[in-house]
Amino acid sequence: MHAQLPAAPPKATSARLRALLGTLAAALLPDGACRLCALPSRAPLCSACQCERPARWRCPRCALALSGPGAACGSCALRLPAFAGALAWSDYAPPWDRLVSQLKFGDDPALARWLGMLLGQCLRAERPGWAPARWVLPVPLSPGRLRRRGYNQAWELARGLARELDWPCDCRLLLRRRDGPAQSTLPLARRAANLRGAFVASPLARGARLLLVDDVMTSGHTAEQAARALLRAGAGDVRVAVLLRTPAAAPR
Ligand SMILES: [Zn+2]
Ligand SMILES: [Zn+2]
Repeated sequence: MHAQLPAAPPKATSARLRALLGTLAAALLPDGACRLCALPSRAPLCSACQCERPARWRCPRCALALSGPGAACGSCALRLPAFAGALAWSDYAPPWDRLVSQLKFGDDPALARWLGMLLGQCLRAERPGWAPARWVLPVPLSPGRLRRRGYNQAWELARGLARELDWPCDCRLLLRRRDGPAQSTLPLARRAANLRGAFVASPLARGARLLLVDDVMTSGHTAEQAARALLRAGAGDVRVAVLLRTPAAAPR
């Protein structure tokens, strides 16, 4: 079976340039404009853009887009991830990828909470069996990165999702000890090593059914290492909800 590998990440420089352009574009939008198409909208995304997200079959374990229904993608068929399931609202691809630069660099936690609400609605519709989680928690930033950025976009997404589903939310269940290079700047082969030992989970996770929230999943290494830390602390079950999932590279 052909293993479906995630697309190679953009080079760090082009990722930074795209982030800068996305942030600039967002800053130039007039008030009351859709963040993607700039048409007037009372919500951050107009209803047309909300409806345009691609309807996809996804791997139930890692949320990778599939060409049809299946029990697992090629990667998960070879080796199951530590988390028990994953959900994605849309693809990490144009135009949706612009939302991530706005989340990370746009200093707009309200946008993240609103997108978290959309992710919660998606979860309710597409994974009804996941309810209820004992805790919703974000993939944490290290203290240094949190200080520099001012907020953790994953925490704001988690708060919006938790409020939509009326589930409890706690950012103290999982901490990030150290500040390696940002995963998005590294080649896929170095991402697992960059995260080894990075997370430490609270004993509060013991026996709990957890929903881990992040903005993007590309290689899945971040969710994998975070889920392993939670399971080592005794979590009963970890599932993952991400706003955007990087599609697989086309087979060569
Ligand atoms: Zn729009
Ligand atoms: Zn998979």
